[in-house]
Amino acid sequence: MFKNIWTKPHHILQQRSMVSAALIASVFFAASPTMAGNVSRVVASDDAITIHFDDVVNKASIFSLSGPNRIAVDILGATAGGSVTPGGSVAAVRQGQSDTDTARIVFDLAAPALITGGQFSADGRSLRIALRSAASDEFLGSLRGGRTDIVPPSNFRASPPQRRYEVTAPIASGLGGRGLPKIYGPADKSLPLVVIDAGHGGHDPGAISPHNSVREKTVTLAVAKSIRDELIKSGRVRVALTRDNDAFIILQDRFGTARKMGADLFISVHADAAESEQANGATVYTLSETASDREAQRLAARENKANIINGVNLGKVDDNLSSILIDLTQRETMNISADFAKLLLREAKPNLRLRSDSHKFASFVVLKAPDTPSVLFETGYLSNADDAAFLATKAGQQKVARSVASAVQVHFARRLASR
Ligand code: ZN
Repeated sequence: MFKNIWTKPHHILQQRSMVSAALIASVFFAASPTMAGNVSRVVASDDAITIHFDDVVNKASIFSLSGPNRIAVDILGATAGGSVTPGGSVAAVRQGQSDTDTARIVFDLAAPALITGGQFSADGRSLRIALRSAASDEFLGSLRGGRTDIVPPSNFRASPPQRRYEVTAPIASGLGGRGLPKIYGPADKSLPLVVIDAGHGGHDPGAISPHNSVREKTVTLAVAKSIRDELIKSGRVRVALTRDNDAFIILQDRFGTARKMGADLFISVHADAAESEQANGATVYTLSETASDREAQRLAARENKANIINGVNLGKVDDNLSSILIDLTQRETMNISADFAKLLLREAKPNLRLRSDSHKFASFVVLKAPDTPSVLFETGYLSNADDAAFLATKAGQQKVARSVASAVQVHFARRLASR
């Protein structure tokens, strides 16, 4: 049914409600688990925990618990075992299998310690979790941060579990009953409409900063509202937000809303995390089936997972979609998107730290509106202490907003001039 959206764009409005009403969710069941690596050695010291594996694993998920204070690490695609060496603030190490495919290692803390970062080695065979000692209330405050997921370099990741069969069941789309969002700005329909999409929301927090525990969904909403306010000031554009509260919206409904409203520009706001705490600065992504590098590809894979809740994919896209996707009508949209991305970076340069390679391409579901120029703006890394602090402040958010607003102004002025 999704195919209709792409092959017959003029039918979109009629098709849309059908899609919403009968969106199909798919549940995947893993076949026999693909065991990948064994935990071979665990070493704790003053400033770090290091976990060694004898083979590749899929992912690590780290979280802290209180009463008694402890740090737990779930490792997907791993079997518990191997030697343990407690040390530093870690008094004891316990291991077990939380399910057939997931090893859990628990570190009992003699004194409160905060997780300040985590990274797999270049060969994917070890995971280092950086720690620092903390006051008791600082530790308790950090518990609100929830889990932090860390993935090994993609060329060293274990193959995902094989799926054996697929069950489909109708499920109501997130848009059902919510209606279209409010339009801010002058009530002049001839003015361009910009739709700002605050990434993540609801049960999906997005990235969580290990430094100030700020969540991506909170940052993106604050930044989106700030961009809206800044754009309205100009009086030259109309603005709508895909969400103005802590709501969960599937990716297709985000750009679906923009298309339904006839948006002239769609900007999805994010603030990601990287494996390296050093990574910092903003990046603008536009759509391409071929990712510009592995990092861009990995980010897209992660962002595209936002549709999955409790293992159910609420926005499963037809496998044929990507091949149908980029047709001639979309080339024009992609060119306009790329032009806007360059403009946004130019306008952001005086205000924000930018990556050196700051315009990248990848296959983000949220950018797949075939007829709405769209960019995904990663405003910085919550895994970087400076970026996280910057994005958590009103002043930082306003700098992002001013950059977007001036880029939008120039963009539409140019479009008007070229007509
Ligand atoms: Zn994100």
